[in-house]
Amino acid sequence: FLDRLRRTEPHLKSFLYISPADAVLKQAEEIDRRIQNNEEVGPLAGVLVGVKDNICTSDMPSTAGSKILENYRPPYDATAVKKLRENGAIIVGKTNLDEFGMGSTTEASAYQVTANPWDLSRVPGGSSGGSAAAVSARQCVVSLGSDTGGSVRQPASFCGVVGLKPTYGRVSRYGLVAYASSLDVIGCLGSSVADTGIVLQAVSGHDKFDATSSKQGIPDFASQFIPSDYLDSKPLNGLRVGVIRETLEDGVDPDVISSLQGAASHLEDLGCTISEVSFPSFSVGLPAYYILASSESSSNLARYDGVRYGNQIFADELSSLYGHSRAGGFGTEVKLRILMGTYALSAGYYDAYYKRAQQVRTLVQKSFKAALEENDVLISPAAPSVAYRIGEKKNDPLAMYAGDIMTVNVNLAGLPALVLPCGFVEGGSSSLPVGFQMIGSAFDEEKLLKIGHIFE
Ligand code: GLN
Repeated sequence: FLDRLRRTEPHLKSFLYISPADAVLKQAEEIDRRIQNNEEVGPLAGVLVGVKDNICTSDMPSTAGSKILENYRPPYDATAVKKLRENGAIIVGKTNLDEFGMGSTTEASAYQVTANPWDLSRVPGGSSGGSAAAVSARQCVVSLGSDTGGSVRQPASFCGVVGLKPTYGRVSRYGLVAYASSLDVIGCLGSSVADTGIVLQAVSGHDKFDATSSKQGIPDFASQFIPSDYLDSKPLNGLRVGVIRETLEDGVDPDVISSLQGAASHLEDLGCTISEVSFPSFSVGLPAYYILASSESSSNLARYDGVRYGNQIFADELSSLYGHSRAGGFGTEVKLRILMGTYALSAGYYDAYYKRAQQVRTLVQKSFKAALEENDVLISPAAPSVAYRIGEKKNDPLAMYAGDIMTVNVNLAGLPALVLPCGFVEGGSSSLPVGFQMIGSAFDEEKLLKIGHIFE
């Protein structure tokens, strides 16, 4: 892995920081020693993990892709990172992202643009583009990302890997740099469903440092991973799968739709019953998401004042110090979000925007509830297109936001969702992967993993 990482990284730029090889090898040798002495090593013993750079690590910088946190070293590990290490994992480095998770391509990183391993002229998706590209190119075994509106799932689809967004509260957010706290979740990327399930097992659970983390019991996810030799020909008999009709309409690539239909008929072959479900509020989730996410981010990002963390641009007046530090430290997309969020929360506009967006959120939650009473899981494309060219949407924020239509509703409802590769589309000189999304009821990751494992 280290050798491949060294050779591929100049082309991909998935990592913002890579652990020195001798430090990684030293940890691996320590694990070998413990195995030889019959000491306990966790299920992730020696597994190389890439961690998105908005997740705190005490021994590596954690910049969230922003200049305002350049060289910032947190004094602690995020709970998810702490748990990975306790399970034997070795953190190989910090992966690139759109600044603070705001974006869909990694082009909004203050440091570098990551390339898609399937076609270096295309984006890997985002904001966890570095985490997805790294797994796709086998620079590491698995990775952590974060998903506020699709940032684990859309890059998984663009890079042809598995991406799991857990239920809100399943994984502690302690040490995750806050973007929109009511939507943020740490998620896992891997090259198989089993890999993401094993990582989920390691990072799940209540944490006294995150009051929104859940006390819900954690099932043994690995018990779902039955080898295919032991399964009968219709292993998913009786499971009801609903295809969300509104996700197969205008604006979605015909190739993406036919890949989704292919996935549905594969599920049918495995014994599922497939039906269409209608989700009338589907398209209004997108504007509601952008209002809520921007509003929460404008408040969360108020802490970057040049005094408490990160870069300071000195000035004689305190207010100028704040102003200069923020003006110089934040990138264009982040400033845009802060402006939109501050506007939506202003007196006089609050009722028209924020309050209505909250009402839409309730509507979306109700629609999912109704659809998931009739179905075990719902399926949709993971994104309306395959990976597009670097630069293609960079200067058109609305076109980029529109690409999040498939994923944002799931965050508004706090539900778990799994993205799985389901085919390839010819994209000029290259073949590009397509993924589809499977959405489950709250805290029912087990069912998603079971179906996903059998599907692949
Ligand atoms: N692309 C979405 C946004 O920019 C989602 C990002 C995310 O999930 N972090 O807000």
